[in-house]
Amino acid sequence: MKSTINYIAEIFRAIWSLLTGMKVTAKYFFTPWNNVTQQYPENRDTLVMFDRFRGEVIMPHNENNEHKCTGCGICEINCPNGSIEIISKSIVNEEGKKKRIIDQHIYHLAMCTFCNLCVKTCPSEAIVMGQKFEHAYWNRTSMTKVLNQPGSKIMEGIKE
Ligand code: SF4
Ligand code: SF4
Repeated sequence: MKSTINYIAEIFRAIWSLLTGMKVTAKYFFTPWNNVTQQYPENRDTLVMFDRFRGEVIMPHNENNEHKCTGCGICEINCPNGSIEIISKSIVNEEGKKKRIIDQHIYHLAMCTFCNLCVKTCPSEAIVMGQKFEHAYWNRTSMTKVLNQPGSKIMEGIKE
């Protein structure tokens, strides 16, 4: 008789344990609006990555095709694995003075570890981390990008 009671008690304990384990699953099953799982790639058009996500280094330009990069090369020096190359050129400004400006800010996405050091150390906040994460390419050269857009120039008021 005692062993039968123990047996039945064991069954109830097992059912209780199972229900406890299923509690979290059931919560998300009946309240799907709380789910954190994204249905990618179906949600590609509406997907918004979280703020701290580091997808790639980008250089924002304003509506006048102006950026904040002075070509100082500090990001290149601070990049631990040589993912950035700064090519600058010399020009003569309106006052007849020679100065160096950015020619090409080259970024090797394939080598980047997304450590954020370049962004943190840029004195003019010219580069940021973008949220694009789909980086599948057919050839490696597509992963080398020039961050300053063609025909762009530095914004007025940026300390050079
Ligand atoms: S995020 Fe890091 S690895 Fe990538 S370019 Fe910037 S400094 Fe280099
Ligand atoms: S992105 Fe910033 S640190 Fe890099 S060259 Fe331009 S101004 Fe200098």
